[in-house]
Amino acid sequence: MFVDNSPLWINNLKEFAESYQEKFEAFFAKTVEEANAQMLGHRFSCVVLDIHLGEDVSGIDLARWYREINPYMGIVLLTSHAREAYSMAIGALADDCLSKPIGFTALAATIENAIKNRTMPHKLRVARFATLQKLLPHMNAVKYSHRICGEAGSGIMEGYLAKDDMELAWDIYKDAEVDEFRSIVGMASCRGCVGYCKFCKSGRRTFKRPLEISELVAQILHSLHGYQAMGVFQGFKRLEINSSDEGDVVFSNLDNFCRMVALFLDAKIPTIGEYLIRKFIATTIGHVGNLKRLINEYRELLDWLWLYISVNFTAEETRAFYMPGTRGTSLVHLKDVLWEFGELTGRNVTISDIVMKGLNDRPEDAEGYFKLFGQGPFDIKLMALQEGSLAEVGRVTIEDVIHFQELLIQAGFTADRIRIRTIIGRDRDYGCGRVVPEKRWEELG
Ligand code: SF4
Repeated sequence: MFVDNSPLWINNLKEFAESYQEKFEAFFAKTVEEANAQMLGHRFSCVVLDIHLGEDVSGIDLARWYREINPYMGIVLLTSHAREAYSMAIGALADDCLSKPIGFTALAATIENAIKNRTMPHKLRVARFATLQKLLPHMNAVKYSHRICGEAGSGIMEGYLAKDDMELAWDIYKDAEVDEFRSIVGMASCRGCVGYCKFCKSGRRTFKRPLEISELVAQILHSLHGYQAMGVFQGFKRLEINSSDEGDVVFSNLDNFCRMVALFLDAKIPTIGEYLIRKFIATTIGHVGNLKRLINEYRELLDWLWLYISVNFTAEETRAFYMPGTRGTSLVHLKDVLWEFGELTGRNVTISDIVMKGLNDRPEDAEGYFKLFGQGPFDIKLMALQEGSLAEVGRVTIEDVIHFQELLIQAGFTADRIRIRTIIGRDRDYGCGRVVPEKRWEELG
């Protein structure tokens, strides 16, 4: 069935149907009412829906209802806008989305694929559904849109949530520098952050609230659906879920994060369809009390949890000035609890340092790091401060980061304990949390 309110397009589609009458028997509807009547009276193999129907109800709304009526029917969306704006709907609701104008051959191939997709062996569908069913109720927790950024060396897809008029962002990217087959879902844990770090846009936003479990789960599910639908990252199947975007998960949302991890484990993840989740990463400036709780109350999850700690300054006064949320946190106590975590899990805790030229990249800073983290289960990750994040710091280049790496080695670290991260997103500014959307999803068309 073709649903389109434009008489011109219906004529076009009729012409298409005539050319392919040996393959398809076609039905047409110009209004939502007509479409619903046809849907209830037939069992279609595929429905092709224009998104903008000129009524209160859109093609996406219809796709949502029709998917419930018949999960085994192909659904193709048509739009006069860029298809990318709707690609997150693909996978979740629809099998594909095409931009008008469309050639007859492409349309026929898309319809055939959609039908094939929906008639995959029943057993396989049941298996996938069984894996995902515990998580599916969370799927619609957020509204979203997304874009592909295409950073050099990485493919970045960003999603934008909008709930309670609250915009925030998550992203998925591949990290070819470290492991070509690794992709990362960077997720937000809160709106705003209580860390209030001066170099971080999340910290400069007003803290609103921690995200609910369903919002955390939804970011991952939407990422996976988008990931599949966009075909970026194909062949990259090992996923890490990192709470590295907006908010400090350990400070403000530890329990929901851990319950979210438990939900995935309970749903027999690590495999979602073809994706293998390898780890969940809690990224934080460190909260000694909550880290102790993590160790004691969520011990059964520790095999799946990695810790990234954003330290940046080893002099506590300077740290408290630039990262007010750390005030009162002793780095020595923090180190002790991280050490315990490392010993319990048998894995290193990653100490992350944003190199800020002239501020934290002197020999004494490197020595401070060695004094604190030279012994024990720790490795260091370095990255450059995003330009413009702090008025007093100029542009930080990769050479500056390498220079600080050398100072760390001179202070006593071995080179294999230090990694440099160069991929960062566009329009971003980050600390341990990184993302604030510069463009709202409405602007994406
Ligand atoms: S760097 Fe991390 S803790 Fe600090 S404000 Fe940003 S998100 Fe929060």
